[in-house]
Amino acid sequence: NLYLYQNQFLPKEQVSISPDDRGYYFGDGVYEVFRVYNGNLFEPEGHYRRLEKSAREVRIPLPYSLERLHQYLTELIQANHLQEGTVYMQITRGAAPRAHPFPPTHTEPVLMAFCNEIARPKSTMEQGITAITADDIRWLRCDLKTLNLLANVMAKQHALDQGAGEVILHRNGTITECSASNFMIIKEGELFTHPANNLILHGITREVVLRLARNLDIVYHERTFTIEDLLSAEEAFISGTTVEVTPIISVDGRRIGTGRPGPVTRKLQQAFEQLING
Ligand code: PLP
Repeated sequence: NLYLYQNQFLPKEQVSISPDDRGYYFGDGVYEVFRVYNGNLFEPEGHYRRLEKSAREVRIPLPYSLERLHQYLTELIQANHLQEGTVYMQITRGAAPRAHPFPPTHTEPVLMAFCNEIARPKSTMEQGITAITADDIRWLRCDLKTLNLLANVMAKQHALDQGAGEVILHRNGTITECSASNFMIIKEGELFTHPANNLILHGITREVVLRLARNLDIVYHERTFTIEDLLSAEEAFISGTTVEVTPIISVDGRRIGTGRPGPVTRKLQQAFEQLING
C-alpha cells in the first residue's frame, strides 16, 4: 500500500510525520475524501474547488497546483491498482514547536494521501439505517473541511452507543447535517436540504443529488427545516462520498414515512447508480 507523502510515493512504514506536526497538536489542517469508481476519481473538480477554498480560508498554502495534485492522486490510484474505494488526502500547516501563532513562513505544509479499497455500501443503501438527533455543537465554519472533527467524532459515537447508524445534528431544532454526511427529507414529494452556508459542509454528493433531482424533475428547496418537519416527512436520506444515498428509516425510535426506503429516494439512488456506471 503506497502513500503519497509530499511529492514521494512511499510504503506506509516509511512515511514519517513529526510529533510537532500542527495537524497532531491542533487539528491544524484540511482534508478531502474522494470516491474512486472503476479506477477513476469521481467528481474531482468539486473536491479540488472545495479543497482550495478550505485551504485559502484557513490560510494554508497548497504545496502545489491542483493540476499537479490531480496527477499525483491519479498516479497513487494506479500504483495501488485501486478500482473501487476512496482516496484520503490531508494537508497540515506543517511541523513547528507547539505554539498557537502560525509557524515561521519557511515551514512547509505536510501533504499525505492514501487509498482505501472499500466496496459500495450496498446493503445499507438497500435497507436504510436508523438515526438519532443530537445538538450540533460545532463551530461556525462547518463549510471548511478541516481536521478538527472532535464534535463529529463524539456525536457519531453517541449514535453508535445508542444502536443507531448515524446522528442528525440540529441547532435549536433546525437540522443542519450529519456527522459525516448531508441530510435531506422528502415532504409532499419535494426535497428539502439545509442551504449551503457556513453551518454545513457543502457536500459533493449533495451537489450531485441536487443535480439529479433537477434532471428527474424532483422539486427541491435549499431551505432550513426542523426536527418536527423531519418526523412528519415521507422520506429521509443522507448523502456522502462513502454512503452515497442511504435511506434513513427511523429517527429517535420513530418511523419515517412507512419505515422503509421511499420511492423518491429510490429514484435518486437509481440515477446515482447510472451516473457512476455511465
Ligand atoms: N457533512 C460532513 C460533516 C462530512 O464530513 C461529509 C463528508 O463526508 C459530508 C457532509 C458529505 O460530503 P461529501 O458528499 O463531499 O462526501
